[in-house]
Amino acid sequence: MRRSNTGLILRHLRDHGGRSRATLATETGLAKSTMTTLIADLVAWGLVREGQPERGGAPGRPGMAVSLDGRGVCGIGVEVNVDYLCLVAVDLAGTVIRESTTPIDAAGVPAAQTIARIGELLVDALESLKSDGVRALGVTVAAPGFTDKATGVVRLAPNLGWREVAVADDVARLLGEASPPVHAENDAKLGAVAEQAQLAGSGVDDLLYITGDVGVGGGIITGGRLLLGADGFAGEIGHMPLDPAMLQCACGRRGCWETMVGLAPFLRLAADEGDAVRRPDQPLEDRLRELRRRADEGDDRTLRALAQIGEGLGTGVSILADVLNPRRIVLGGYFAWFPAELVAPVADLLVARRLNADAAVPSVVGSRLGLTSAARGGAHYALEAVFRDPTLAAT
Ligand SMILES: [Zn+2]
Repeated sequence: MRRSNTGLILRHLRDHGGRSRATLATETGLAKSTMTTLIADLVAWGLVREGQPERGGAPGRPGMAVSLDGRGVCGIGVEVNVDYLCLVAVDLAGTVIRESTTPIDAAGVPAAQTIARIGELLVDALESLKSDGVRALGVTVAAPGFTDKATGVVRLAPNLGWREVAVADDVARLLGEASPPVHAENDAKLGAVAEQAQLAGSGVDDLLYITGDVGVGGGIITGGRLLLGADGFAGEIGHMPLDPAMLQCACGRRGCWETMVGLAPFLRLAADEGDAVRRPDQPLEDRLRELRRRADEGDDRTLRALAQIGEGLGTGVSILADVLNPRRIVLGGYFAWFPAELVAPVADLLVARRLNADAAVPSVVGSRLGLTSAARGGAHYALEAVFRDPTLAAT
């Protein structure tokens, strides 16, 4: 009871902002007398703070507003990508308080070596947070692959060359006895969580996030919650059989959507071999910046490549929109570098295919979160456990 009621208050403060105990009691339906005790618990656990007198509240004596306390606790997300690790810490109020990116060659070294590096980054981050008086209440490792929701084992991450890697347990072991709980989740799912966190309080509870990288992944938020599926493999949209050329995919199948619209086919369409934008040893951000520049200058080859990607993207998105009925579709990863070229064809196709003129069409936007998106989502995901059960912060 205490767990669910304190959770209700904490989520209400997150979604609606600071307010007085009296307003909270009215809006949550909890009794005023219990409210005092519950708020006292939340303050003692470092999750809620007393603030300014409430403005615009109920008439009469203004109550002292309580709000989320971002100072004392945080969640951490670490994204493993083919060529970088990204670590982000987010406090309870949703503010990013740590952010770093470290280049690695995750596909070229054994998984254990990459995990050791993750462990080092986390040890440093946890120490520096602790010296600032911030407790990390959870860690989520974001991996580009099929991740078992129950065990945190990455069953298959084709582009890292990972198979059956127990990343959550391995990282927890490296952090030792004082380790906060460590989970692992698919990177695109966590990208969707990061996008939803940006939209808190906006009323958008149904969101489809599609990220284009070496692979193409999806994250589905439905009714405000991340869709996991029976084993946690929901959202593997990159492997829908849509490519008429039936090219070989890294997953072992042929004709997957990502062989049409992933980063590799885009680069092949946009430039000849030997062109700097196709050199994997160059930072991806630099190569995308160069392609962005070419598109801005009206370079015919780049624009034709983007037109073809836009068409392929529209084909898959229109299927997903029919199946999932999202309110918003967010294009992330490399797609987000080309909103002017990729959003319009996808949005136009959704309008053209709607069943009647009155039918609502989801809005299509490019992500603004950049390369840190999955790590940021991981940090929010770690905090989500606290929003569901604030007693986790009691110890
Ligand atoms: Zn595939």
